[in-house]
Amino acid sequence: MEKREELYAGKAKSVFRTDSPDYMILEFRNDTSAFDGKKVEQLDRKGMVNNKFNAFIMQKLEEAGVPTHFEKLLSDNECLVKNLQMMPVECVVRNISAGSLCRRLGVEEGQELNPPTFELFLKNDALGDPMVNESLVETFGWAAPADLQRAKELTYKVNDVLKKLFDDAGMLLVDYKLEFGLFKGEVVLGDEFSPDGCRLWDKETRKKMDKDRFRQGLGGVIEAYEEVGGRLGINFDA
Ligand code: UDP
Repeated sequence: MEKREELYAGKAKSVFRTDSPDYMILEFRNDTSAFDGKKVEQLDRKGMVNNKFNAFIMQKLEEAGVPTHFEKLLSDNECLVKNLQMMPVECVVRNISAGSLCRRLGVEEGQELNPPTFELFLKNDALGDPMVNESLVETFGWAAPADLQRAKELTYKVNDVLKKLFDDAGMLLVDYKLEFGLFKGEVVLGDEFSPDGCRLWDKETRKKMDKDRFRQGLGGVIEAYEEVGGRLGINFDA
């Protein structure tokens, strides 16, 4: 498939048109951002690591019956994806309290959440991605009610698949963010799944192995991402 012009550049990825209207090319860059883009750094190898990490996870999800936009890896930093009509909401599931949940509700980090929580945030940088709910999504037409229900169902299904995958590799899936879109009328998982958009802790020591290392200035960010990948059996040099 031929790579055509850049359609848009996000904080960590760029999206390119192809010669087919149904497919796009995602390029994972080394840019790393946090706090609505207020902290930005270039981290060596990050684009490659997240591209391969995402490919591995998307394939695992497909095998488990979650429809995803992922088609195939094209290079170290690029993959081919379906062109989805994105819903402008982020779906967040939490298994353990951390991050904005602790700040918002004053709960301590590290509490097991049973049942896991489901939250929705509007994708809007200018407003700082405010929390929304199903009623607001319906009223403002950000997604059709049936499509939102399907996205929610798939978000929980991803939890079943990935909690076990990470647990088997000695890690806790604390929380994660997913984005969905429509492809020929079907709700499909889009965007990416990488340590940039989830929290992963070592099961024994609770060492943080995700983007919180960058947010909190803990260092060893990409080393941690590569350790997560290594534990899952991903070969980043292949
Ligand atoms: N998250 C994300 N993009 C966002 C906001 C959150 O990928 O714009 C992920 C984040 O990495 C974490 C989960 O969603 O795994 C929940 O994030 P939270 O609401 O705790 O916000 P944060 O503390 O990251 O600001």
